[in-house]
Amino acid sequence: MNPDPASRATESFRSHFGRAPRWLASAPGRVNLIGEFTDFNDGFVLPMAIERRTVIAAAPNGTDKVALHSEATGETVTVDLSAPVQPEAKGRWSNYLKGVLAGFLERGHPLTGFDAVISSSVPIGAGLSSSAALETATASLLELVSGVELDPIDKILLCQKAEHRYAGVPCGIMDQFISATGRAGEALLLDCRSLQPTWLPLADPSIAVLVINTNVKHELSSSGYADRRKSCERAAEALGLSSLREASLEKLNAVAASLDEMSVRCARHVIGEIDRTLRAAECMRRSDWGELGRLMYESHASLRDDYQVSCDELNAAVDIARGIGRQGGVFGCRMTGGGFGGCAVALIEAAAQDALIREISVAYQARTGREGTLFVSRAAEGAKTVPLLDQPHRRCNLLTGEWVFVSPHRNRRPWQGRVEATAAASRPEYDPQCYLCPGNVRANGEHNPPYGSTYVFTNDFPAFLPDTVPQDASEHPLLQAQLHAGTCRVVCFSPRHDLTLAQLPAAQIRAVIDTWAEQVTELGQRWRWVQVFENKGELMGCSNPHPHGQIWASDFIPTQVAKELTQQEQWSAANVGKLLLVEYAALESRAGERVIVENADWIAVVPWWAVWPFETLLLPRRAVRNLPELLPAERNSLADLLGHLLKAYDRLFEVSFPYSFGWHGVPTGTRGAQLHAHFYPPLLRSAAVRKFMVGYEMLAESQRDLTPEQAAQRLRQALP
Ligand SMILES: [Zn+2]
Ligand SMILES: [Zn+2]
Repeated sequence: MNPDPASRATESFRSHFGRAPRWLASAPGRVNLIGEFTDFNDGFVLPMAIERRTVIAAAPNGTDKVALHSEATGETVTVDLSAPVQPEAKGRWSNYLKGVLAGFLERGHPLTGFDAVISSSVPIGAGLSSSAALETATASLLELVSGVELDPIDKILLCQKAEHRYAGVPCGIMDQFISATGRAGEALLLDCRSLQPTWLPLADPSIAVLVINTNVKHELSSSGYADRRKSCERAAEALGLSSLREASLEKLNAVAASLDEMSVRCARHVIGEIDRTLRAAECMRRSDWGELGRLMYESHASLRDDYQVSCDELNAAVDIARGIGRQGGVFGCRMTGGGFGGCAVALIEAAAQDALIREISVAYQARTGREGTLFVSRAAEGAKTVPLLDQPHRRCNLLTGEWVFVSPHRNRRPWQGRVEATAAASRPEYDPQCYLCPGNVRANGEHNPPYGSTYVFTNDFPAFLPDTVPQDASEHPLLQAQLHAGTCRVVCFSPRHDLTLAQLPAAQIRAVIDTWAEQVTELGQRWRWVQVFENKGELMGCSNPHPHGQIWASDFIPTQVAKELTQQEQWSAANVGKLLLVEYAALESRAGERVIVENADWIAVVPWWAVWPFETLLLPRRAVRNLPELLPAERNSLADLLGHLLKAYDRLFEVSFPYSFGWHGVPTGTRGAQLHAHFYPPLLRSAAVRKFMVGYEMLAESQRDLTPEQAAQRLRQALP
């Protein structure tokens, strides 16, 4: 088995859910070096995070359900986010996750469904806080899922509360605190009263921390711990203090006669342990490992004799370590955690670690008849997340077979929101100078009719000529040329000079759709390809603001179209005749995160492979080859969807949004392709900042910083 839980979680996610995870969240277990049972007495603890982690690999699943798969147990638990999260039977691993999920939902943070696999190298039930690791890893994952970064203390408290309420364990704050915040090469002196952390250096390469797992777990009833806690409270009360934090051994001795023996012993441990913990912190500051080791032995004796939470196996481990002693490379050793089994922790010389692991293992087995598990750890970092797609990556455009390079890490600047409107140039409803307005004279002397809806005419300066005789005109195999014929038409969307497609009422957008469809039918009878498109805005080189588009029909299939048709045909042939874009539309609708707007017939997404920052792909849900095939209801729902999408564009930067837009249908004789439309807008960050396809993009590959998911989210927020 791969020992690295991150690789294991990733592999396990792939095999269980059949795709790659989007996120990795992980958090470490911990070992408390000194400061036991001091937390609820407002004292100090001194843990460090260990190099054993719980990792969650996860990806959105487009539902309102969370599927949690445990690699350890092989179980999968489903949580419905739309219903209150109920805990399961006590002791179930899923309760820790459920408790954290509940905490997020109660705070009103938005969660969407995801699949997750949990893998861990933190031993369970060994007192190394596998539960806190699971809670803080979950909380870190949910920060990614929700996009909400919790305040660090709130995150720790949320995890602690999850353990109280969902796992039924009234734990202190130490475990979640160190698991969430741990630092490599540093131990944490935590003031449990103020929650003030002090970080202490623990990176001396000559020392190491050895964890000795006794592999025994004796049960002490929870009442056994509660009794000791009550004893501490009784002692504090006798001393007239709110906790044992301010108590001293002198004061305790003065009131000892009035207290029961158990209370005196428990209080004596806590008072001594708080003092030892503070002294241990001083030892770390000056790298006095010998004195730190001595304090660890003292701590163990106190836990064994006064607090009485040790056991034979823990005592054996500590005795063996002490027997090896300073000469053998051991500075000190003590039980750690709740006791009655679990682990001992030793401070050792790093150079001796291999020999010590062997020697202690053998001696422990000889003394107890049990096999211990020993490992060395350095102070490790706390909870962290790796959103895989936040790293530089390439995405494949299945429509073209081309790749786009995405650099999301360059896009960390906070989103400034929509910028204020730049003074919109107000235009008249009718402009006597406009060659597209009704009744006006065009450049070739023709008069536009007084049209009331859409108006189509042949372009006065057409790029294609209908009478060209198609033929090969290559002058040399290296100098190829072909003559082609075609025709170019202009479609006025409305008689109103001052409106754009976005501003037209749905009924008028419907009229435009009908006009496009009629033109495709008519021109399609003569020409192999009919390209319907709109080039909008001065940034796109369109000088006339009158709402209009163009239709260029040709006797050949143009390059971009041919590329997409070939890709779609090949995909369909390889996928039992399914249509790439029908499957893609369904996938995007389920996933949701790249959807801008959708209805029963249509979906508009920022495609997975978008090149332009706010590029969108408009897809019918059912298989449709061409605009004329659209049913009346589908034309109405398309008009409605276009209105929403175009208004979102206009609102994004508070500017009449420039773009190139066009329809791609399916020519006669082609199978396996699907009708769709592209919007390619050039804007990047504002009305003035445009995306240039230059440099690397011209010479190597298209590149973007803003992810398609982020772009879709911004467009959704801009919807009317
Ligand atoms: Zn006009
Ligand atoms: Zn296309």
